[in-house]
Amino acid sequence: MQVLPRKTIHDVDVSGQTVLVRVDFNVPLDDGRVADDTRIRASLPTLNYLRERGCRLILMTHLGRPKGQAKEELRLDPVARRLEELTGWPVVKVDQVVGPQVAEAVAQLPPGGILLLENLRFDPREEEGSPELAQELAALGSLYVNDAFGTAHRAHASTAVVARFLPAVAGLLMARELEVLDRLLSDPQRPFWAIIGGAKVGDKLGVLQALVQVCDGIAVGGGMANTFLAAQGGSMGDSLVEADRLEEARAIMAAAAQRGCRFLLPTDLVAASAFAPDADKQVCPAGEVPDGWQALDVGPETVAAFGEALAEAKTVFWNGPLGVFEWPAFAEGTVAVARTLAHLEDAVVVVGGGDSAAAVVQAGVADAIDHISTGGGATLEYIEGRSLPGVEVLAVKEAGEG
Ligand code: ADP
Ligand code: MG
Repeated sequence: MQVLPRKTIHDVDVSGQTVLVRVDFNVPLDDGRVADDTRIRASLPTLNYLRERGCRLILMTHLGRPKGQAKEELRLDPVARRLEELTGWPVVKVDQVVGPQVAEAVAQLPPGGILLLENLRFDPREEEGSPELAQELAALGSLYVNDAFGTAHRAHASTAVVARFLPAVAGLLMARELEVLDRLLSDPQRPFWAIIGGAKVGDKLGVLQALVQVCDGIAVGGGMANTFLAAQGGSMGDSLVEADRLEEARAIMAAAAQRGCRFLLPTDLVAASAFAPDADKQVCPAGEVPDGWQALDVGPETVAAFGEALAEAKTVFWNGPLGVFEWPAFAEGTVAVARTLAHLEDAVVVVGGGDSAAAVVQAGVADAIDHISTGGGATLEYIEGRSLPGVEVLAVKEAGEG
């Protein structure tokens, strides 16, 4: 895949500008507080850099799915408060996305000042990708910085369309995400292994198709593996299986065999008597899930086989837990693989996907992972080779630059 290097805030003179920064502050809230501030912290290098150069910052983000209407519980006040706590900087929060209150607040903003606009998705024009809204946003500043990798696969007013009206460059988080993924796809240290699991089987077959063409090996677990085991004629009981995707699953296995990409499926599974944290469980051979039972984790033999294969890896991409890791009884496979990855010496390990990132944190090994992507859908679409609208609009580095 031909990847064009994008300009970042390092490549333009930002000093004294009023910068519209699209951040991804789509954080979980709990009782009016930010429950996990990982995404806010991930934006700080960009915000710091711009502030140190005297920029006025206008931050834009969405939160949740308000569907084009103001929803009290999705206002960004808790986010503004957490940003203040993390940085010690005053953050002005307005209750509008655009409008007179916003214009007034921008006019009052001192150099180094920070303004947070209201939840962009309160305005239906955001998700419509409205040029009108994009233009109103653009009128507030002189430079557009996209640091929201997690929404870069959306062509919304604030993630892409606004770049029609202002010079547009990548923030440091966006740049790092792209750099890591580009390296993975274009020049990985080999052997390059992918581990794919999770529940969104349909969404991820395209990713597997792409990975089969670049990886040396792929290990499949979680809900994802069930569809492949069913495609091989296994009995899967009540397990999550996408019965209309078996043909595609077989095509992927054939492509892997043809290219010489190893394709590991579980050989044993932990089956549960019900989809419940305290269900009865038993280990069974992979294609022999008893009637009325469902596979919720990979078994010990599989964990050992995956571990052995991964031991030789020099690059690993992991997306999708290997079981229902939210429940301790079915977290063993996921936790074991997380630990294996944490102990790999001189291998580059990249984890993408919201639940996968949570699993790595739960396993207590987040610090040992080279890169935990802030993107879920965006990461997968990029790996599939699809272009991301929020990246496409960014200025391209000219030859010899950077
Ligand atoms: P990510 O967010 O990392 O992209 P997904 O959203 O695709 O991952 O999948 C995560 C979900 O998959 C988790 O909620 C987990 O409980 C579920 N899951 C994993 N294995 C199974 C399984 N065998 N059966 C049902 N659900 C599973
Ligand atoms: Mg998920």
